[in-house]
Amino acid sequence: MDYEQFFADKVAALKAEGRYRIFADLERKAGNFPVAKNYQDDATPDITVWCSNDYLGMGQNPVIMEAMHEALDKCGAGAGGTRNISGTNHYHVLLEEELASLHGKEAGLIFTSGYVANLTTLSTIGQMLPDCVIVSDALNHNSMIAGIRHSRTEKKIFKHNDVEDLENILKTIEPGRPIMIAFESVYSMDGDIGPIEEICDLADKYNALTFIDEVHAVGLYGQHGAGVAERENLMDRIDITQGTLAKGFGVVGGYIAASESLCDFIRSYGDGFIFSTSIPPAVAAGCLASVKYVREHNELREKHQERATTLKKRLTDVGIPVMPSVTHIVPVMVGDPVLCKQASDELMFQYGIYVQPINYPTVPRGTERLRFTPTPLHNDELMDHLVESLQKVWGQLGLKQAA
Ligand SMILES: *Cc1c(COP(=O)(O)O)cnc(C)c1O
Repeated sequence: MDYEQFFADKVAALKAEGRYRIFADLERKAGNFPVAKNYQDDATPDITVWCSNDYLGMGQNPVIMEAMHEALDKCGAGAGGTRNISGTNHYHVLLEEELASLHGKEAGLIFTSGYVANLTTLSTIGQMLPDCVIVSDALNHNSMIAGIRHSRTEKKIFKHNDVEDLENILKTIEPGRPIMIAFESVYSMDGDIGPIEEICDLADKYNALTFIDEVHAVGLYGQHGAGVAERENLMDRIDITQGTLAKGFGVVGGYIAASESLCDFIRSYGDGFIFSTSIPPAVAAGCLASVKYVREHNELREKHQERATTLKKRLTDVGIPVMPSVTHIVPVMVGDPVLCKQASDELMFQYGIYVQPINYPTVPRGTERLRFTPTPLHNDELMDHLVESLQKVWGQLGLKQAA
């Protein structure tokens, strides 16, 4: 076996399909978000980032940076161990208390990332609950799918956001078997929202646990940023809320919030929690400051929603095909991987606008898109420039207009 050839051929296949991924080499500028320096072959222009998951610009918030500087100087760089073996710093404890309180739960548990939180929690519960069935939305994130697979328990997939299909599946499960329903609130590629209340009703009827991924909603929805479940007054009906500290909260790390016994169970049995060094104290301090800040600043969420609504309207008005999102995510359909990459390149190199093309397997083939995420810091001037540039690129490449 020629290993090198094998790897090179696999990559060449992606290139032939037009979905080879090239990372934009950026240097973010604290104090000047969403502007970043872009390291190109022979230049380093400033560009405007239009596809960041730092949805509120918290990554440069002075209060958070100050908290991180302070903790860094106090505690040093790393955590020094897994949580069990000398790696529990007081900031971790405070952060878990804050997250529990945010979601109105008894306890919180932090992980190195949202990915690891999903993987560990779903796989541990699925493995240990005897004869468990996990019922999962068809569009769940890769990290949930990985957790479910890793659990090696039975899984059933219901059609995306389709409660009728969900109930049809639940009906077929022998009464008495443990069931966990796993779904998201905001689906980040289309910008739609799961039917949380209906799913909770079915969970009650069939005695199932509910696991919700609110990664694209924490910090952003609800009066205190606890997510869509808070906005819809459903927090107490969810068994396990999973979130990230890396998107709306602008730092890094993942978590669950749930009952005392459930968090203690994952703390005690979850491999991805037990066997990995905890996040650095300074990172935990930054997360803690961010959650506190975001809880108290609802005006950030209002501005965020206004920016997204304005961008959707402005693009729609000029015939750019915005997909029907009900959230802060503004997906624009291109429908072809090569054209999508070309549009993204034109925007970057001609107009200084960075929006990453979204291709298969992140979205289905034929639905390749540009996904814009305006933040409270994308002002009218930046938006004017974006709308004009998109119109030009659409004309230049002959891309499909809105129907
Ligand atoms: C990004 C993402 C995750 C993973 O969170 P990280 O903190 O980035 O690891 C989990 N679920 C969904 C839906 C995501 O989009």
